[in-house]
Amino acid sequence: MPENTQTKPKVRYLSGVQPSGRLHLGNYFGAIQNHIQLQEKGECYYFVANYHSLTTLQDAAELRKYTFMAAADYLALGLDPQKALLFRQSDIPEVTELAWFLSTVTGMGLLERAHSYKDKIAKGVASSVGLFFYPVLMAADILLYQSDKVPVGQDQIQHIEMCRDMAGYFNHTFKKEVFKQPEGVLSEAPKVIGLTGGKMSKSDEASVIPIFGDPSEIKKKVMGIVTDSKGVAEPKDPETNTIYLLYKLMASPGETVEMAEAFRKGGMGYGDAKKRLVLKLEEVFGGEVLERRKKMDEKPALVEDVLETCARKARVTAAKTLEQVYEAVGIPSSKVKKAILESGQDRG
Ligand code: AMP
Repeated sequence: MPENTQTKPKVRYLSGVQPSGRLHLGNYFGAIQNHIQLQEKGECYYFVANYHSLTTLQDAAELRKYTFMAAADYLALGLDPQKALLFRQSDIPEVTELAWFLSTVTGMGLLERAHSYKDKIAKGVASSVGLFFYPVLMAADILLYQSDKVPVGQDQIQHIEMCRDMAGYFNHTFKKEVFKQPEGVLSEAPKVIGLTGGKMSKSDEASVIPIFGDPSEIKKKVMGIVTDSKGVAEPKDPETNTIYLLYKLMASPGETVEMAEAFRKGGMGYGDAKKRLVLKLEEVFGGEVLERRKKMDEKPALVEDVLETCARKARVTAAKTLEQVYEAVGIPSSKVKKAILESGQDRG
């Protein structure tokens, strides 16, 4: 019998994070921690979503700053560019081109049902066409790299369902199986609570604990978490308590049970719990992790080098997908673009 030399193709994971502010505990426990673990399991494509950020952040210096910070945070937290790709969304402009193709097969009704769009408008974000179009660009992000799985927080699940719909519409309209149907993957903490009670979110600065905030700022934020007025001796429900819910994300099972029981029995005051949370944050995001993060600030060229090297690799996958799209829709592949890409002048 011939030897079976075929190896199972690796699962391809894709995800992104917007550089519209400092990355926070919600980003980490909802998505980034998972992204870093998955680099041991499959082919990972992670990007800093600077095109997406333009829907809420329109200040060039801020966008540059947060783009660098997001990439530096990933690297400090353990992303290994030898195992996973980390690139800037805008370094692969083909993604906007694919978004156009997808938009032509997507009904307005699908986008009108997007919760995230409605939530952002309710919070006062200007209702630009770009904001409305967000799910199409996100579908292009996913489909451009022929991704199998998309590890995200709960708030992105509807967008992944829309992406699956768009992949299906495209394949059906052009009678070609160009795109697969990607699946969302949730972490163990898909909706991390913020300091103001709702979801922790970059759009509400008061709600966030930044992963790499200044220690005095973090202490101030934690000590300022609003609680009810129950005294130290009174029993309290840990499951409705922001301090406990955040502590639980980082504490060992034993420490978690101990705090929960102390709250339930009475005897654990909010002030004491806040101090424990501050110490836990220092333990998890201080030390070596913080040292690595500081090195990125000292040598920004290292971060830039990772982003550029990874983008070159990701762009090869992107170009292959677009060739299939051109073929399916009947648009000739651009000889001009190909010549520019081959000569390397596109990056000049
Ligand atoms: P964004 O900040 O919108 O770019 O989100 C980057 C990733 O973090 C996405 O996968 C989100 O679903 C995830 N995320 C953002 N906020 C939270 C949160 N509060 N809890 C869990 N996941 C979150």
